[in-house]
Amino acid sequence: MASLNRNRSQHQDAGGIYIHFPFCVSRCDYCSFVSYIHDRAVAKRYIDTLKSELSLWAELYGKDSNAGPKVFDSIYIGGGTPSIAEADDWNVILGFIHDRFQIAPDPEITIEANPGTFDSARGRDWRSAGINRISLGAQSFVDSELRSMGRFHNSHDIIRSVNSLKQANFTNLSMDLLVGYPDQSIQSVGESLGKVFLCDPCHVSVYLLEIKSGAAICESIRTGCLKLLDDDLSADMYELVCDLMFRHGFEQYEISNFCRDSRRSVHNMKYWTDGFYLGVGAGAHGRLENLRYSNYCAIEEYHACVEEGRYPWETTINLDPHTRMIEALIMGLRLNRGVDLIGLSDRYSIDVGAYVMNRLSTLNMYNLFEVDERTIRLTQRGRLLSNVVFERLL
Ligand code: SF4
Repeated sequence: MASLNRNRSQHQDAGGIYIHFPFCVSRCDYCSFVSYIHDRAVAKRYIDTLKSELSLWAELYGKDSNAGPKVFDSIYIGGGTPSIAEADDWNVILGFIHDRFQIAPDPEITIEANPGTFDSARGRDWRSAGINRISLGAQSFVDSELRSMGRFHNSHDIIRSVNSLKQANFTNLSMDLLVGYPDQSIQSVGESLGKVFLCDPCHVSVYLLEIKSGAAICESIRTGCLKLLDDDLSADMYELVCDLMFRHGFEQYEISNFCRDSRRSVHNMKYWTDGFYLGVGAGAHGRLENLRYSNYCAIEEYHACVEEGRYPWETTINLDPHTRMIEALIMGLRLNRGVDLIGLSDRYSIDVGAYVMNRLSTLNMYNLFEVDERTIRLTQRGRLLSNVVFERLL
């Protein structure tokens, strides 16, 4: 197991805390996340173990740490479906975090919520607990698509949930859409986006379907029950999304993310800007100064480790400067603003411009990226084919 050494000189910027709640009402057909069917008693024990894991981290980064506290300005409760946990569970966890960690004034505190799993009273409880941002998993407003995805909710549930959030005074609302699903069409994607605009969120994440092993949809595709869309149609859908977002006043700031009024996700920006974040909970990922880790996905292994007072790491990777530079480059290229080559070179004492030229020279003619004196960024075409660029940079 890797050892932990705090090296505060490398990261003075505020960090984030990600909390994973791996329980859902049912399992969606495309899901490859760490999630189990919700059971109240199991979830209760899990919340206790989250507190124990947070205590381990507090020794290293909390208010009483020997090296001095690290400041955190974002907390993200993701899943799974954390909106099915009792609101008091998050009240307890957030109170615990505020007690043990140095939290910046006015932090961004997000919870992922699925339509149909909460009402306005629960929304108000979240507000009282300090939660100020919602990421709502709408995915589509077309009921036949939601059924095909195996979603628990229908389009009316989405509208009801948005109304509940407005009644609870949430103004920072993000909505997720899934695009490129079998049976979707250009028209249906446009229809869903039109309904999203009526809900008036300030942030929208649009994910192109990615199929990973373990998802139920793999079997449906193998047996011919569902047929994947061809790449050109998925690309047309993505272009439609970018165009409609722009026409409705949204800025695209990342390959899959759009916002109004500069309301970018403070937490997710840490992933794309070489930031620091703790990942807490089964299957959570974290990134420290020189270490990347992922926690055990299996609940029992997760509990056992934490209850023995150990970090519940299933994998760890020690990050040398070269590896960190490549990660920062690839993650930073997801942002429309691109990567500051000189800043990154200074940070890691590596000539990043030369590295990029060397790796990407054979892609020059394909209009996938553009480079000026100090910045590299993907073009619109490059955002569609980002994996081609990223693979070359590895
Ligand atoms: S709600 Fe999210 S985490 Fe839960 S099963 Fe569906 S896709 Fe997976």
